[in-house]
Amino acid sequence: MKQQIYTCELQQSTRLSAGTFELALSRPRDFTFQPGQRIRLLDRYRERDYSLVNAPADSSLRLCIRRVPAGSFTASLHAAATGSRFQFSGPHGYFVFRSTSRPAVFVATGTGIAPFASMARAKTRGFTLLHGVKSPDDLYYADLFHATAGTYVPCISGKASTAARWFHGRVTGYVEKELPPGTYDFYLCGRTEMIRDVTWLIDEHFPDSNVYSEIFF
Ligand SMILES: Cc1cc2nc3c(=O)[nH]c(=O)nc-3n(C[C@H](O)[C@H](O)[C@H](O)COP(=O)(O)OP(=O)(O)OC[C@H]3O[C@@H](n4cnc5c(N)ncnc54)[C@H](O)[C@@H]3O)c2cc1C
Repeated sequence: MKQQIYTCELQQSTRLSAGTFELALSRPRDFTFQPGQRIRLLDRYRERDYSLVNAPADSSLRLCIRRVPAGSFTASLHAAATGSRFQFSGPHGYFVFRSTSRPAVFVATGTGIAPFASMARAKTRGFTLLHGVKSPDDLYYADLFHATAGTYVPCISGKASTAARWFHGRVTGYVEKELPPGTYDFYLCGRTEMIRDVTWLIDEHFPDSNVYSEIFF
């Protein structure tokens, strides 16, 4: 089936942390999506996928983007001026929340938090969220998750003050040592290594749980 191509305009670019920014794009009137889905930005030579962080009813489309060192596409997005036009296809993907009787555990590294922000804004509640980042500066959307998560656990793998509200270590450490035994619906989003390692831990420690994953890189 031929994908519909949409055109949008950059409304705003906002710094979230030293290496991450959020783009607000105008929303084509006929574009709809479910929380957790993504769009594919296109130019003449390249295409790159980005998860939407806004709720489906919002008037702008928002993307949370890590500026990849030596990354060609993210450099152009970071430098784009307000009013720049982009083309995209979508919505893509099936990484959507499925409500069941099992508790949901969301596990993200870095910008892998994006689909969970959209789910939270679309009124998904009661989930446990682990957000793995190097520095507390990268805990973007913390206010949103303090207000919406049942349990919000920032996992800081780099040097940070010893504030009790953070887990000091990687998300894998929390899953292995701190997550209470149980049968869960796990949603994993971020880097391949994290998804592989957490999936191994789930196999070992949380039998009969479901695992849904979205790999960014
Ligand atoms: C399903 C899906 C959803 C995605 N959603 C998001 C999102 O919401 N936010 C977001 O920031 N990114 C997301 N990505 C990643 C995004 O699509 C691009 O791959 C990324 O922005 C890099 O593009 P680039 O052209 O700048 O880098 P490239 O020019 O493609 O790569 C430059 C160099 O960096 C390496 N590299 C590429 N990506 C990364 C990375 N993420 N981390 C470390 N090294 C990397 C490459 O191997 C290469 O060596 C998603 C990817 C997928 C597959």
